Amino acid sequence: MKRAAVTRLVSSETQTVRDTCEAAMQTEPVTITSMYGDLVVITKSSEPSQSQSVSVTALTDSFSAIDDPKDLSFQPSQSQSTSQSSATAASLVDDRKFLVFDSQLDSLLSHLICPICHCPCNKDDVVKKCNEGTLLHIEVHCLSGHTILDWQSQPQVGRMAAGNLLFCASTLFSGQTFAHVQSIAEFLNLKFFSHTTFYDIQHTNLIPVIMAAWETHQQSLFTTLHQQGQPLRLCGDGRMDSPGFSAKYCCYSLMDMDSDKVLAFAIVDVTETGGKSTNMEVLAFERCLKQLLDNGFIVDVVATDRHVQIRSFMKKSYPNIRHQFDVWHVVKSVRKHLYTISHKRANMDLAPWSQSICNHLWWCAANCDHSADMLEEMWCSLVHHVVNVHEFAGNVYVKCSHDPLTEAEQLCKKWLTPLSPAHNALKEVVLNKALLKDIRQLNDFCHTGCLEVFHSLVTKYCPKRQEFDAVQMSARTALAVLDHNFNAEREQKVTSDGKPCFKVAYTKASAKWVAKPIYASKSYDHVSDMLHSVITQQETHFLEPVANSNKCHNIAPVPAPPKDELVARRISRFAPQ
Ligand SMILES: [Zn+2]
Ligand SMILES: [Zn+2]
Repeated sequence: MKRAAVTRLVSSETQTVRDTCEAAMQTEPVTITSMYGDLVVITKSSEPSQSQSVSVTALTDSFSAIDDPKDLSFQPSQSQSTSQSSATAASLVDDRKFLVFDSQLDSLLSHLICPICHCPCNKDDVVKKCNEGTLLHIEVHCLSGHTILDWQSQPQVGRMAAGNLLFCASTLFSGQTFAHVQSIAEFLNLKFFSHTTFYDIQHTNLIPVIMAAWETHQQSLFTTLHQQGQPLRLCGDGRMDSPGFSAKYCCYSLMDMDSDKVLAFAIVDVTETGGKSTNMEVLAFERCLKQLLDNGFIVDVVATDRHVQIRSFMKKSYPNIRHQFDVWHVVKSVRKHLYTISHKRANMDLAPWSQSICNHLWWCAANCDHSADMLEEMWCSLVHHVVNVHEFAGNVYVKCSHDPLTEAEQLCKKWLTPLSPAHNALKEVVLNKALLKDIRQLNDFCHTGCLEVFHSLVTKYCPKRQEFDAVQMSARTALAVLDHNFNAEREQKVTSDGKPCFKVAYTKASAKWVAKPIYASKSYDHVSDMLHSVITQQETHFLEPVANSNKCHNIAPVPAPPKDELVARRISRFAPQ
């Protein structure tokens, strides 16, 4: 009968094939090489001429050369492997792991010879136990029934196979979900652990480790900032877990505009705002800001988008903190208005001006010298410039900042006709009272572009439309924050002769080719630290587990009717009329 190929993960730590061979024949060391990716080739170094094309070349007659049966004392007991792993938690993380095929394992085992009676292994008496996830336990007996081998593919950490534990940790720490990796394992026919094992490990070990890592990191950020002693300049934005009104969570983050590091985040569940997803953002913002104020910081300025509730909250609760708007958000909204009006037949002349008008808003915010009055007048001067008038009445800004235009320049511009429909439509957009009020809050030239970059990273760790409970959302967001912050100061790559590296990219938004800097590769040292903590947590339980709630709690305001009733309703709906 042909056995289906079953693949398993084998750790190269304490109980590897290397050990098997070495224990059996101490005089002839073997070499493990991994020149073919995850394929391991074992060769006897005393016989280098042995064919390299054979994937596993093990030892044939050498076992019989051993006289002392005690040499076969290789029987990794539970306690032995536990003590080894405790001593070297770090080595479990750094230890190489291999993917082993069942058939290749059989080929290795078939070379075993009993040291007591010298008969070969009994192929019908090889017991492979694989009921603990990725762990494989093998017992091999000879024809006379002696135990030749009692071996585990992974060391133990506490009462858990290290491979199962580290696989779960690597899954979560890389932002993957159990469902994703389980489907990889299924296609590969890799022995794998259950959903229950994953969630247990996640709640007793991984989430406590992540949250502790985040708290430690946040405290060290706070210490550095307190030492610098400057009032904070923050920018913030909320991210919904799914679009629009169906959102269940809002995650708000506040970033330090000087270091581009995320200092605080807060997650609000829609049940906390009475089921109203539109109220989540302001509540999350409030909690975030409070975290920083409670830690003794003075906040000079907070830049956000023009969220209605946040602006009224800031006005009411924190009138002393300057509230700025993100320039990009305001420019985006102006662009949208211009697009709408310039598509009307009467206003067609406006279209070629749209991009320059948006650029002008950026330029005004950047060059107003922090003065809101100056900014507003600079912006309004636009309605004169487009009709070829460059000097105008005003309190602080009375003429355009560009050099006087030459006759040729004046001729080639497509000036608007004063008081034409296009000019009037433009004035309505530019001089709109609400917009002018908002523009006065751009005077510090704050932009939250770095937060946008961070949010796209959050999507890696918290994929949208994926069900997570609030605890998992926090932990996954913390992973994104750590990833972002530990890589916020990455330098641009340089060539061997010291020139900065760029790549050429096409941007859809501006429909232009641009040069973008290439940054040094990301560092994941913090993940390695967390993996070490995972081992320590498994051995010592130094952190409190979080409450296990596998299922997301329900957002429905009424309890579910009986299933039979719902099934009956569905059938009647689809029944022929
Ligand atoms: Zn025997
Ligand atoms: Zn001008």
